[in-house]
Amino acid sequence: MLIGAQDLVEVGPVDVCIVGGGAAGITLARSFVGTRWRVLLLESGGPSFDARTHALYDTPVIGTDYPIEASRLRYFGGTTNHWAGQSRPLDPIDFEERTWIPHSGWPIGHGDLEPWLDDAHTVCGLGPPEYDPHRWSTTLGPDFLTGSPTLESRIFQLSTPIVRFAAAYGDELAGADNVLVALGANASELLSDQRGQQITGVRVRWFDSDHTAEPRALAYVLACGAIENARLLLASNAVRPAGIGNDFDNVGRYFMEHPAYRAQRMLATPLFPSRGLDWTPSAEPDPPAVVIRAIGPSDAAVRRHELLRSMLIFYGRDDALGDEDADVAETEASVRAGLWRDDPSPTREVAATSIFEQAPNPDSRIRLSEQRDALGNRKAELDWQLGEIDRDSVYRSTILIGEELARLGLARTQLRPWVSLFERPLLPGVGNHHIGTTRMSATSATGVVNRNCRVHDVDNLYVAGSSIFPTGGIANPTMNLVAFALRLADHIKQDAL
Ligand SMILES: Cc1cc2nc3c(=O)[nH]c(=O)nc-3n(C[C@H](O)[C@H](O)[C@H](O)COP(=O)(O)OP(=O)(O)OC[C@H]3O[C@@H](n4cnc5c(N)ncnc54)[C@H](O)[C@@H]3O)c2cc1C
Repeated sequence: MLIGAQDLVEVGPVDVCIVGGGAAGITLARSFVGTRWRVLLLESGGPSFDARTHALYDTPVIGTDYPIEASRLRYFGGTTNHWAGQSRPLDPIDFEERTWIPHSGWPIGHGDLEPWLDDAHTVCGLGPPEYDPHRWSTTLGPDFLTGSPTLESRIFQLSTPIVRFAAAYGDELAGADNVLVALGANASELLSDQRGQQITGVRVRWFDSDHTAEPRALAYVLACGAIENARLLLASNAVRPAGIGNDFDNVGRYFMEHPAYRAQRMLATPLFPSRGLDWTPSAEPDPPAVVIRAIGPSDAAVRRHELLRSMLIFYGRDDALGDEDADVAETEASVRAGLWRDDPSPTREVAATSIFEQAPNPDSRIRLSEQRDALGNRKAELDWQLGEIDRDSVYRSTILIGEELARLGLARTQLRPWVSLFERPLLPGVGNHHIGTTRMSATSATGVVNRNCRVHDVDNLYVAGSSIFPTGGIANPTMNLVAFALRLADHIKQDAL
């Protein structure tokens, strides 16, 4: 059933209270439809975009400039109301501790998520979880990187037709007897017992009223996106001054993105394929999927050269390059790097976007701002920091990819002067992926949630969404966070209630 926030004062205790109705929150709530558990989903927004509600997301940006305004949406369905649908599972290497990347390593492995990937693909409107490039050769052409010691192909899938979570699943939740969806319900603070180890309620505010509601549940899940999940934990400081789950000052830290650059100019030879560089519907009806090929350093190369992960993706844009390309000149540095030479002869320019993993960095973080929003809550403040390790990896990965494409006779590459000369700070584009502010860890000293997504040292509080990711890999987060939400729902049903 759908209710308004003001109706919450009439609602008795439920089993599970989910805060946030985006990809994670809607997936969790759906997992309880038709079960014996009563679920309350608190969603800040209404059914469509509303500027006053969206302004509650206003977040001062300090540190590296960040285009925060359009990077999330605050209404039912959340940011899936304008996500692009590109998807791929995290890879096994993403879960490993990589000695050259400080703070890398998850307390779980890829196998701990795998059982939920099939269903997550269905939820997100994707084909089956099939990512072997050979499996897609009928659709995308043969894997032209087979045999390269350095580069490999990576398949991505596209949500088709693109799944907007509230439009796709809102009616199912509204029609469920055991699920209440409260719209216009802004969680402003978590309430806890005297020791801060049990959540006892959520303080909810709404516009045009001084009243608040405090719905109660046995278990609570934060599913508000990585910035707001951290903000809520930090703002819930009535009992623990540093906020809930924050005894070791980890909440809000390790904010990561997927920096995306046009880092090079790529001139392709006739050997470089034309097929598979844009979204392509599968050639056979089974499995139905829309796929694309990206390329990047293989796991072996990443280990050998001690790099962060990265990839090049083409989106079929062999067309004229944008304004930012005007500054591409044949620089001394790119000649020195051996990436710009006459042979082999290129026949066309391929517009490639480089996407990079960002290293986990405790100084890249969300804090509480001194500014307050229209409901009187302290805003979040974003201090996004890219470190030397990111800069170095962008540079060396771009060279590595260019050298191997040249060696294979596929393309020659010219680095942008700012990449090769290292003179300017990196001014990246972004993937609009908010990752890492409530990272999963083995102990409370090193992170915020445990392997079951429960906040360390709090008995009944869980977190859903990519805020739990300790590292970001190069996969888009949403299908993965949906798989984590399905896994969390099973855990809550089996072990927590
Ligand atoms: C332009 C763009 C393109 C993208 N493309 C892709 C892509 O191709 N592939 C991909 O994987 N990802 C993509 N993303 C990212 C994707 O949208 C997010 O990963 C995903 O939506 C996150 O899901 P979530 O449930 O954690 O958060 P959201 O979807 O943001 O949902 C959070 C919900 O919580 C609600 N909320 C917030 N605060 C409160 C509060 N205090 N009280 C109550 N409710 C609250 C919000 O209103 C919202 O409904 C894209 C993002 C953008 C901006």
